[in-house]
Amino acid sequence: MLHIKKAELQNHPTPFYAYDLKLLRETLQAAAHAAGKYGYHIHYALKANSNEPILAEMQQIGFGADCVSGNEVKRALETGFAPEKVVFAGVGKSDRELRFALENDIFCFNVESLHELEVLNELAGESGKTARIALRINPNVNAQTHHYITTGLEENKFGINFWELEQVLELLPQFAHLQLIGLHFHIGSQITEMSVFRALCLRVNEIQQWFLNRNIKVEHLNVGGGLGVDYHEPETNAIPDFETYFGIFNEFLQPEPGQQVHFELGRALVAQSGTLISKVLYIKKGIKTNFIILDAGMTELIRPALYQSYHKIENQTSKAPEMRYDVVGPICESSDCFGKAVMLPETNRGDLLAIRTAGAYGEVMSSGYNLRDKAEAIYFEG
Ligand SMILES: *Cc1c(COP(=O)(O)O)cnc(C)c1O
Repeated sequence: MLHIKKAELQNHPTPFYAYDLKLLRETLQAAAHAAGKYGYHIHYALKANSNEPILAEMQQIGFGADCVSGNEVKRALETGFAPEKVVFAGVGKSDRELRFALENDIFCFNVESLHELEVLNELAGESGKTARIALRINPNVNAQTHHYITTGLEENKFGINFWELEQVLELLPQFAHLQLIGLHFHIGSQITEMSVFRALCLRVNEIQQWFLNRNIKVEHLNVGGGLGVDYHEPETNAIPDFETYFGIFNEFLQPEPGQQVHFELGRALVAQSGTLISKVLYIKKGIKTNFIILDAGMTELIRPALYQSYHKIENQTSKAPEMRYDVVGPICESSDCFGKAVMLPETNRGDLLAIRTAGAYGEVMSSGYNLRDKAEAIYFEG
């Protein structure tokens, strides 16, 4: 059950997002501690959740910011992240976004194509700046996660493929306004199979060696994010196993002496701290099942509709014996369903349901489809 006071739940119009700042802090401390053992640097991936109180916690603990849009760069700077801790990635950065980041002297642009190198060089020249860049290289490592959140295979649109690197190195000396400082890799999200990270390390070592053989030693290796969370057991596994995760990199990754190692975690830092709270509008009898119709839908949390993802659902009000339900939202789409054949205490109109592990890729993906209102966010100490 969610550790939130009844009054806190009942005082807000539904649906709303509730964030447990105590759990968030404990999670960040666990991550910082485990990474700190090896001198690793963490940049928080803002796209998972960019609410200001959450960013403030990230900034306070000393993490940098990993941004994938100009507005995320802007939000990070406004929240107080130092420009030298801001990284800008993304396969389609617009000229306006690049110019904005150049003007603000961010730490690094993670460049995803040869064409982007040309454009960034030109824009940096126009702004009278030198852009520090990392090459985002597609390592062709299978993340063994949902295909929509796999990014590190050659068939994906992300990163520069290995076979293009020769050409990149040929052209790089002509780009007078770019300075290569890093190699960047990010293979996907919600990775729960830890051997995937070992495979990534081994591939990064090989690619690093390829560069060393050409007398190129960069200042940092950025191995991305992707550590998964336990959507089935948000209580028992509230904090991801950061010790094992960073331990794998310590064991298998071979940075050069003096080379920094950067991580970009999103989901693992925020997912368990967020819950979507929704009120039951109607109970409706179907042929095989009963429907719980909620006042929250895919407009508030699209993950189940987009990736068939599982979220644990709890009835915060009823303690009656359990029954089987399909839990659905009010939106005019059949994919607007939070869970099929879910066992829940007998549920009534007005009950509050908690949809757990919604802190990452939840609120940030909300939409105004059906002209829906934006759900409020509240913060509590669990
Ligand atoms: C989304 C993203 C991340 C964060 O991924 P998580 O799975 O949330 O840890 C890190 N780096 C890049 C480049 C991303 O696009």
